[in-house]
Amino acid sequence: MTIQTKLDAIVRVCDKALLSHDGYRHLAAVVPSLFREYLVADRQNKINKLINTQIHVEIFNIEDIDQFNGDNNSDERASDTLVNNNEVGNGAYCSLSTLLKILIPVWKGRENPVIIPGDILHIKLGGDGRNVGRKQNHVMVTFCLLNEKDDVLKPNHQYSICLYIGKEKYETLDKVGKIFALQLADLKENGIIDDDGIHWPVEFYFSGDWKFTYIILGLNAPNSEYFYLFCECDAKSRHNMDLFWMPTGNTKGKKRASLFPVIDLLNYIPDELHILLRISDILMECLFRDLFKKNDFERNFKEKIEKKMNDINIHFEFYRSSARGTWNWTSLMGPEKKKCYNIFLKPSHTEAEILKFEEDAKNWVRTFCRPTIGQMNSATAIPGLYRKDDVTPYMHMLTMHVPYFMRRLKEKGLSLRLFSTSSVEKKNHDQVRLFFGGTTMGGGKKKLPVVYDILVFENRQIFYLINNIPNEITCRNINIYNGENTI
Ligand SMILES: [Zn+2]
Repeated sequence: MTIQTKLDAIVRVCDKALLSHDGYRHLAAVVPSLFREYLVADRQNKINKLINTQIHVEIFNIEDIDQFNGDNNSDERASDTLVNNNEVGNGAYCSLSTLLKILIPVWKGRENPVIIPGDILHIKLGGDGRNVGRKQNHVMVTFCLLNEKDDVLKPNHQYSICLYIGKEKYETLDKVGKIFALQLADLKENGIIDDDGIHWPVEFYFSGDWKFTYIILGLNAPNSEYFYLFCECDAKSRHNMDLFWMPTGNTKGKKRASLFPVIDLLNYIPDELHILLRISDILMECLFRDLFKKNDFERNFKEKIEKKMNDINIHFEFYRSSARGTWNWTSLMGPEKKKCYNIFLKPSHTEAEILKFEEDAKNWVRTFCRPTIGQMNSATAIPGLYRKDDVTPYMHMLTMHVPYFMRRLKEKGLSLRLFSTSSVEKKNHDQVRLFFGGTTMGGGKKKLPVVYDILVFENRQIFYLINNIPNEITCRNINIYNGENTI
């Protein structure tokens, strides 16, 4: 192993462990055999230069657009990070085609190749916004190669192509769409030819949460009557499980052009997990509101539910809100709710399973909003459960469209679980914590936007990938008895 590789490995693990230059200096001060800090810093700069000449990081500004709009759509996600004011409006991006050219050799060169000549590159674009401060988001546009299968569920298999600090809204994302428009159109039309002259056709997909997808599709504000992503079902028909809605698009709710015209409507894939989490919110709320009405709630149910939650390692408790004395409960975060839904993470489903799922889901909604049968308040009446209005858009999505997408993806050798947005959300969470959480990953000398530093950080990860930089070095101990001395 060369000194160079060892040094590269140090730079890599510093990134992995999020060890700052300062932290490394302290470490090297007590471990004399470590490389001096300046050597590591120099090498990191060298790597930045090397990889940045291959993958240019461009910067842009969106502020001029954002200033016109004083609306503040408050995001429910709490934030303990604050963005510096002069970072607002900054954006950075790099070329998708360039990234593909660099990554294709890695994908096809593996022992078990991810792609072989003749394959279509199934490229999923994704997006996520995360609060940095009260009104601003760190917005991330990513891509991943769905051919990688379950690997795309890991955040480091989602590659950022554009980041900006601003709002998660149409006017701003329109600018992002324009940056990539020509390139995406070319990739869709002509595919990409790698350095060995192999031609790879490209098909685009998109997944994001409801809000992000809604914006990308150019649909009207989510409080309008027709606000579905795929069809023109209206609010009054939502509960009716005997209707059948094909995903033919929502022209009634559509006001503006979609921002990524290269993506066919049927390639906007709903995030199954996200839908289930939203439905579980409603179910919990319905259940708890019913339980609160019972006289023995406090004596009986409260403790049992809290204990059950604690048993599966979820912090949960009921408490009285101070203002009106009504009961309230700890809201669960995504990862906690996810523990309840591992069943849906099954890699593939048979046609019969999909059909069964579709019937079960529809029957479940029918039961959910079943009206009272018989004379109200009479002894023989079977009381209904919830109102038709309680059927949510997510329940519509689950029953009317999710089975369709399960079948469609199955034909392409893909599955819904690959479209989970949680890996993109996790990536965004990590980067916000890392670069806006008060640590000094950026280095800080040059005055370039933080989003630029983040893309350079991601570039370095690609450098490690394409150059096989080890993140651990095994060395056999020197054995003084047989004189073997291999490092
Ligand atoms: Zn629909």
